[in-house]
Amino acid sequence: MEKLRIGIDLGGTKTEGVVLDEQGLERYRQRVSTPGHLGFEAVVECIATLVKSLDDQAGCQLPVGVGTPGAISTLTGTMKNCNTTCLNGRDLLGALEARLQRPVRLANDANCFALSEALDGAGADYGVVFGVIMGTGVGGGLVLHGQLHQGAQHIGGEWGHNQLEADGPVCYCGRRGCVETFISGPGLLADYHRLGGKAQSVPELLTGLEQGEACAAQAMDRFHQRFGRALATVINILDPDVVVLGGGLSNMEPLYREGRDAVAEYVFNDQLITPIIRNCHGDSSGVRGAAQLWSVDEV
Ligand SMILES: [Zn+2]
Repeated sequence: MEKLRIGIDLGGTKTEGVVLDEQGLERYRQRVSTPGHLGFEAVVECIATLVKSLDDQAGCQLPVGVGTPGAISTLTGTMKNCNTTCLNGRDLLGALEARLQRPVRLANDANCFALSEALDGAGADYGVVFGVIMGTGVGGGLVLHGQLHQGAQHIGGEWGHNQLEADGPVCYCGRRGCVETFISGPGLLADYHRLGGKAQSVPELLTGLEQGEACAAQAMDRFHQRFGRALATVINILDPDVVVLGGGLSNMEPLYREGRDAVAEYVFNDQLITPIIRNCHGDSSGVRGAAQLWSVDEV
């Protein structure tokens, strides 16, 4: 009997599903649009249809793991902090289990990223892995010796909403100067605009940097300093064996040189030995990690 698992990555615009085998190879993959604008029931139905299609391709009913924005509130059992807002306050896990007639596991998408990279990705040779997402937002997940640590309140690894600068920009979470308001894609671009820059996207900003644009150089310098201060606080507490970077901004090469140097400057040690490395599975980490919420031994 083959040990297959389904992973679903519920994104803001696209929902992706894969069937993963026991070697971690993808057998099937399918992608559909997320009908978030049609409401909660439509999202549940969309996931159910995707799961049915993957079941059919595999020829049997498989265990399902789902990566979502936000998290399950440990107080109410309903979703919180989701940018697909129709999920907030709703029992997504319960609805999926009822609809799919089987146990389902659900975790935050940054946690799925961290799990995937820790189990068979860039962090596979390390014990304690801090996985970082730097894209539209800033998230993170913690895996301790192969086990995802979601935490007592399911906020483990959420360094994106640590306050970095008390007088910083307002964050969607209601506070000011969160890490996310500075070292996300929109955060970097907004800071560059405050310096007078004109580019309209991060790739454009990076082109400006290559061409010697002063605003771009200043914005990137501030970006690296902020990355250093923010990540050093995490390293001082966790002292992880590795930090794996993911999300769109993890493709910026200078992060692994100037960014790393800035972390070393702020960490409570005379040198920084923690490897800060790029992810291995790219955009597939989320959906792979969702499937890996079920270990091979459990299926
Ligand atoms: Zn915030």
